[in-house]
Amino acid sequence: MSPLPPRWSQLPVPLNRREIMSLKFAARAEEMEFRRDYDDGAVPSRVAMLVIGLLMILATPLYDVALLGAPPDFVAYTRLLQFGVQVPTLLLGMLVVLSPALQAIKVPAMLVGMLIFGGSLSAEYVAGVRHGFSVPHDVATLAISAMCLLGRLRLYVLAPWAFLLMLGITVAQVGAHQASPGALYDAIAIWMQFSVALTAAYLLETSARENWRQNRLLETEAAQDALTRLPNRRQFDEVLIGRVREAAREHRSIALMMIDVDHFKAYNDHYGHPAGDECLRRIAQWLRESMRRPQDFCARIGGEEFVAVWFDADAETAPLLAERLRAGIRELAIEHGQAQGPGVVTASGGFVFKRPPWPEEAAAAVASEMVDAADRALYAAKGRGRDRLLVSDGLDPARTVPPAARR
Ligand code: GH3
Ligand code: MG
Ligand code: MG
Repeated sequence: MSPLPPRWSQLPVPLNRREIMSLKFAARAEEMEFRRDYDDGAVPSRVAMLVIGLLMILATPLYDVALLGAPPDFVAYTRLLQFGVQVPTLLLGMLVVLSPALQAIKVPAMLVGMLIFGGSLSAEYVAGVRHGFSVPHDVATLAISAMCLLGRLRLYVLAPWAFLLMLGITVAQVGAHQASPGALYDAIAIWMQFSVALTAAYLLETSARENWRQNRLLETEAAQDALTRLPNRRQFDEVLIGRVREAAREHRSIALMMIDVDHFKAYNDHYGHPAGDECLRRIAQWLRESMRRPQDFCARIGGEEFVAVWFDADAETAPLLAERLRAGIRELAIEHGQAQGPGVVTASGGFVFKRPPWPEEAAAAVASEMVDAADRALYAAKGRGRDRLLVSDGLDPARTVPPAARR
């Protein structure tokens, strides 16, 4: 038996140092994919942030006079800020976060919202001082923590704006109090809280990145065959149905070939299992290199069984492509002294071509029908002496005929 596939050992170290420090994946495509997923996953957390913010604002009338003794003039002004600026900002934020049409502007909108919100807090401080009332600094620290921890903006997007905001709040607060010791202490407390929130945001993002990459690697592993790194059976089933559906929608053809290596048991018995594995890898490589268009693909669906799929090939060339692919295995010239045939490894193929149209809903049925038909053609090819391709004409096994391309 061959050793266990090197599945786990091939998972790369989660994140390298640079990626951790810069909060950026080395590969741009991966980074862009992460950003999209991170943003998509941020909706519940952002909604929570906005709902909490709304509740806190709606609750202030319950205590700011009764518990803090805010003077009436100040209260009138602060209500204007709360219900004229802060509540609408949060409600607009909710609209942007939840509306699919506004996805493109949501990050800048959140940053602008944050500045408006921070500006209104600063205005409250200044007004408080004018009315001989000291606004507690907890509101600012709470808002800034919520933004850092629940806003789920990437740290390097958030940080410069948050700094700006913190600076504004500090200047407003300390300035309004003419740098009194109490105001300075409040400013220090806000910056301490801010540094804790930023550090936590940094750690949250690194762990989100680590988890995301780990999941993506596992997904890739689960979709691949460990020996050849081709898509495996599971992935093949899924992708094939997707392609058949796409072909139905766009009125394109689908061509499919099953390939089975001939006398492979004898090859293994004679040359040993490791040599058998190597042979399969070489065949897989040939298949992979031969699939040219992005929507074409090949997969390993069994021990020495492969499949190739062509999207939108025309009816005349598709069987020729299939035959080229199959004959190419023989041209790899892998010695096979045990076969009755030509002394090299050969393969048989069963081919099927599906012309449009068919209903999109029938994708799964059409896919399975094509696989069955190709399988039957392959079986027939084996029966007729192997090392050949048979075409299943019109998916009807009774009409299975040799292709024009056959020798
Ligand atoms: P036929 O021409 O009719 O296809 O004959 P065959 O010997 O190729 O077919 P059979 O199904 O009898 O044998 C398939 C062999 O493929 C048996 C099995 O040991 C071998 N095989 C399946 N998976 C692997 C693998 O991952 N590595 C190796 N080395 N051999 C494998
Ligand atoms: Mg087989
Ligand atoms: Mg075989």
